[in-house]
Amino acid sequence: MRYWSENKEKLTCLLCSYYCKLKPNETGVCGVNKNTGNKIECLVYGHIGAMNIDPIEKKPLYHFLPTSKSLSLGTVGCNFKCSFCQNYGISQEKNIDKSKYHSPKDVVNIAKKYKCESISYTYNEPTIFYPFAKDIALEAKKHGIKNVYVSNGFESKEVIEDMVGIIDAVNIDLKCFSHKYYKNNLGGNLTQVLENLKQFKKNGIWLEITTLIVPTKNDSYEELKQIAMFIKEELDIYTPWHLSSFHPDYKDLDLTRTSIETLKMAKNIGSKCGLKYVYIGNVNFENDTLCTNCNEVLIKRNRFEVLSNNLINNRCPKCYTKIDGVYPKMKTIRKTGSAGSFYPDQKDEIIKCIDDFNSKITINGNFNVRAMIVPHAGYVYSGFTANIAYNISQYKKPKRIVVIGPSHSIYYEGASIALYDEYETPLGNITIDNEYSNKLQNKYDFLSFEDSMHLEHSTETQAPFIKHYFPNSEIVEIVYGKISYEDLSSLIDTVLEDEENFTLISTDLSHFHTQEKANKLDNICLNAIAKKDMALFDNGCEACGKVGVKALIYSAIKHDMNSKVLHYCTSYDKTNDASRVVGYTSALIGY
Ligand code: SF4
Repeated sequence: MRYWSENKEKLTCLLCSYYCKLKPNETGVCGVNKNTGNKIECLVYGHIGAMNIDPIEKKPLYHFLPTSKSLSLGTVGCNFKCSFCQNYGISQEKNIDKSKYHSPKDVVNIAKKYKCESISYTYNEPTIFYPFAKDIALEAKKHGIKNVYVSNGFESKEVIEDMVGIIDAVNIDLKCFSHKYYKNNLGGNLTQVLENLKQFKKNGIWLEITTLIVPTKNDSYEELKQIAMFIKEELDIYTPWHLSSFHPDYKDLDLTRTSIETLKMAKNIGSKCGLKYVYIGNVNFENDTLCTNCNEVLIKRNRFEVLSNNLINNRCPKCYTKIDGVYPKMKTIRKTGSAGSFYPDQKDEIIKCIDDFNSKITINGNFNVRAMIVPHAGYVYSGFTANIAYNISQYKKPKRIVVIGPSHSIYYEGASIALYDEYETPLGNITIDNEYSNKLQNKYDFLSFEDSMHLEHSTETQAPFIKHYFPNSEIVEIVYGKISYEDLSSLIDTVLEDEENFTLISTDLSHFHTQEKANKLDNICLNAIAKKDMALFDNGCEACGKVGVKALIYSAIKHDMNSKVLHYCTSYDKTNDASRVVGYTSALIGY
């Protein structure tokens, strides 16, 4: 936005609702914005009067990134003249110390250095240095740092509109509910502040309100009730209201501190009016956040310190009610469901298992592997067979591994792709490539995300091998239900097109036949794979993941890739029971 407009021989400042009309060389009410000839210059641009790293709770913001640090800064000057100002040392200062200059990049670098999740424009009225604050905020956004405004709420309508998408949260002082008191003792006007509060809410900027309760000035029951009712009726009952305790300062040295009884009365008024989040600030009590549904303590605080934060993904851990505010996204994890049964749940035991498999094989040959077929029974039955394929492919350094397996326990139309952040394994979590997963989901109608599908062992049994052999690769998990091999093959085609991908198709072979019959049926599957003979798959091949295997071989034919069967065994090798066996194989697809 342009921060001024032309008005005959004067320039009108558009930063706050005073709209000062300034002749050349004139400075506005705030003392820091000046008509320098053909523009209004913000004289404090780059000149910071105070800068600290504060807990965000000190702003106060209780529903915005709790426990995070906020780089807090202000300049000098203010467009108000509150006699009780608790920051008058900078707000009422007119001399600008220009000995130091901080560019927006300098400020953001400081925020990054101290791992601040937000930058707060505070201490004095930020609207009067909005050109500087905005440039910092735009730079901060590039680095994922949010922006907070702590203000008296007398912005111009132009600035409020401009803040959308730039400023993430505001805490506005609603200092009283008296037009006269605003006019004579504070500055600005109540009507405009109330309008602006509504506008912030309407514009979707996270809003919390603070009232400093000053004895004899704004602490009557009626006035506090008027504020609470305004919040309830014009904003909403979920807007946090902070009741801050006054201590004698600036020109109001003869006043007493706000009593605990007054603070409690004010809180009581807010709660009785129906406000859900009323906090007493600057003291050590009644500033916990409770669940609006079951009263569970969600965030426990001692002044600005958060003692415990029990929220889970913005929700009450007890009744799952969503709590209003802006919270960090929690990592979502694809949890293990088969550790301790299909494979060991301890890291050392898995490594021992793999070492044991490797002590019995000699690997040689050169094959540019693009995909593998691997079994998924318990490691004691099929781990050796799977490990051969992993071992032979470990020279690869794929960016991501796309593991595709059938659903064994849930009937599902189509397939589900895991949209979590991480994949848990006893060897450590694997990052899920969510961006790639989303791309695939957007491309294929048959792909959706169903949480319950991702406790599937056919894919999970691969995860410890993946973490062991490809520690730097990310993972994409697809579990399929009812789907045609042609559809699945078209997805595999897309995956194969990217050389940074490595595809795993998980399957076991025939189930619960005699050893003799299993060998016969499995031989058909092995031939179909080795010869890339699509017709053979439907000529006696039995496999729980046959759709996946057929899809891969179909893609291999389209991409002119070769196949190579590595190993075959049945559960008989482990159980010595030939009456009821399961077959396993591993195979490579590539050049
Ligand atoms: S910021 Fe407000 S007080 Fe300062 S010059 Fe602009 S309109 Fe006037």
